[in-house]
Amino acid sequence: MNKFQTLILLGLIPFLFSCSGANSTDKINTATNHYINDSIDTVIVKNEAQYPDIDKRYLLGKINPQNDSLFVVVPSKYCLMRTEYLHKDALEPFIAMYEAAAMEGINLGIISAYRNYETQAWLWNSRYVNSSNPTVAAKTALKYIAMPGTSRHHWGTDIDMLNTKLNFFETEEGKKAYKWMCENAPKYGFYQVYTQNRIVGYNEEKWHWSYIPVAKEFLKQYRAKISYEEFVGFNGCELADTLNVIDDYVFGIDSVLLRSL
Ligand SMILES: [Zn+2]
Repeated sequence: MNKFQTLILLGLIPFLFSCSGANSTDKINTATNHYINDSIDTVIVKNEAQYPDIDKRYLLGKINPQNDSLFVVVPSKYCLMRTEYLHKDALEPFIAMYEAAAMEGINLGIISAYRNYETQAWLWNSRYVNSSNPTVAAKTALKYIAMPGTSRHHWGTDIDMLNTKLNFFETEEGKKAYKWMCENAPKYGFYQVYTQNRIVGYNEEKWHWSYIPVAKEFLKQYRAKISYEEFVGFNGCELADTLNVIDDYVFGIDSVLLRSL
């Protein structure tokens, strides 16, 4: 592809992106009710040019978003709990999605966005209940929480929103909000990563959505750059290798997204 062709393709991407959710190439996977967007392939082209080499500190949540140029603070009106930070390329699409949902009476307020390694370690230790069987303790925690260094929240691309209580999604409000996300979030680049459409990994999380145009590149580079000796300083860290957390949890995402890597 020559330079001119590349420029045309890059110029088309925003158009494809903004229109993709409404065109005829989109489809619903009826087996999982998960929305699939055919623009994933165009996103790959854009990202390889934009994120050629991601430092592993970003992959592990070992940066300070307050003074890092790749991160931006999220305006407080979009945050439900505290001051939040996102990868700079994820904020504008999130705000566009938030405002579109708000027009339908749906609140996509952020419960949790960027989390660093230390915060994840605190969360992990609070869920990892020491017992006579550390493997059981770790597997129990891994139903819903990532080991430090393995969380997509380290990337600033992933957001917990709506409500993190399971029974919310059984209410009419929760069903309406989730249906809206399945049908509309891909138009803005956001996808549910922990769907029913997997065979390993965390339990399903209907509140956790990922800005795939950036997260896809983080995940691809994670495989090459991160090894098990990175995971230290938290309860049960010695089990990360045995429990295969990279293959089964970091890569335990929606199978359609996994195939698009
Ligand atoms: Zn999450």
